[in-house]
Amino acid sequence: MALEVKKLVGGYSQIPVLKQVSLTVKPGELVGLIGLNGAGKSTTLNHIIGLLRPFSGTITLNGLTLANNPAEYKQQIAYVPETPILYDELTLREHLELTMNAYGLDHQAAWQRARKLLKLFRLDNKLDWFPANFSKGMKQKVMICCAFMTNAKLLIVDEPFYGLDPLAVHDLLDLIEQKKKEGVAVLMSTHVLDTAQRYCDRFVLLANGQVRAHGTLAELRQQADRPDESLDEIYLGLA
Ligand code: ATP
Repeated sequence: MALEVKKLVGGYSQIPVLKQVSLTVKPGELVGLIGLNGAGKSTTLNHIIGLLRPFSGTITLNGLTLANNPAEYKQQIAYVPETPILYDELTLREHLELTMNAYGLDHQAAWQRARKLLKLFRLDNKLDWFPANFSKGMKQKVMICCAFMTNAKLLIVDEPFYGLDPLAVHDLLDLIEQKKKEGVAVLMSTHVLDTAQRYCDRFVLLANGQVRAHGTLAELRQQADRPDESLDEIYLGLA
């Protein structure tokens, strides 16, 4: 198992949001984290990336924990946030170099990967621009380039489809497929269920901070006890 979350109780400033959330992601697997607004998807992801500390429960990534191996743990995770996080005073080139330094990457090899990603997203002629001034979709593409350039073993993608044009969504899904082939574990939160149905290997359905159902689409249907329903209907019916 690459990522193992066990009985995670967590939230903000002692306000519990997550109640005993358990989930796993294997190497090479894409798990979709789904649930209605406020279900606790981003809160779960914020705990996994180490932005929030668990009240109780454990989060283990390839045997590492944030408490025992903070630097190594963080370098194994690449994160594409729902809202792009960019520095006003840094150029695109400087954002990429900052990421390379944070992940301890060999710059020459990392630049090779970065250039391919920049070309794919038509950002290769904007290296000296300030991405804080880019459109929402372009900012998201910068975050995708930074995350996919790393050698992280777990990729976390929070609501990636809003703001991206259809071509970029297609390219992103292709990049996720490539990462899966390299044995990277991917956890993606999304509301876009028709796309998720086509690409995710398994789902974790959250409702009110709890895992309401999990498994493959067929397993989710069994748990819903309504075998002919679409994931869309199960999602709305269970939450
Ligand atoms: P969405 O689909 O709208 O992004 P979500 O499933 O990601 O929703 P979360 O953002 O994890 O849901 O929110 C779960 C709960 O935590 C909600 O009740 C929300 O109000 C609360 N919450 C989120 N951020 C904070 C915060 N910074 N401080 C206090 N409570 C918060």
